[in-house]
Amino acid sequence: MNCKTCQAALPDLLLDPTAPGNSAARAHLKGCAACNVEFTALQSTFDLLDTWNAPEPSAYFDQKLAVRIREEQAAPPAGWFERLRSRLLFNTSRQFRPAFAGAMALALIVGGGTTAINVGRTHAPVQTSATVKDLQTLDKEDLVLQTMDQLLDDSSGEDDGATPVT
Ligand SMILES: [Zn+2]
Repeated sequence: MNCKTCQAALPDLLLDPTAPGNSAARAHLKGCAACNVEFTALQSTFDLLDTWNAPEPSAYFDQKLAVRIREEQAAPPAGWFERLRSRLLFNTSRQFRPAFAGAMALALIVGGGTTAINVGRTHAPVQTSATVKDLQTLDKEDLVLQTMDQLLDDSSGEDDGATPVT
């Protein structure tokens, strides 16, 4: 058993020190100072928790709660806006998951359907005029020239700044 598995087993060891499943952790604790420190800290935390007393609820707590529940049940139902607002404020986003999954599935179906329709169609070859072709060629050549200039700048800069390493 290594330190990681031992420290994962420490709570079980603390709750039931004599259990046969904890023998490996007990054996590791005898030889490992770091895990011993961890075990002692955990033990003192548990001891502190044992001394803690949960506060008692106030008198008439149950009666007050029952009255509140009856009042809420008797109250007129909230409007749709109020219900939507409380749902958005206090939601755990769990209730929206089915709707979200449905929306995603719909998007997939619509997207897939559109793609299938487009694949089924035969595209007519796009006719480009000679002027557009010339402009595209000029654009490409300009890009090539810019790239060449950059390369030349970079390599000359390297030549100047390079110092032989001895
Ligand atoms: Zn250890």
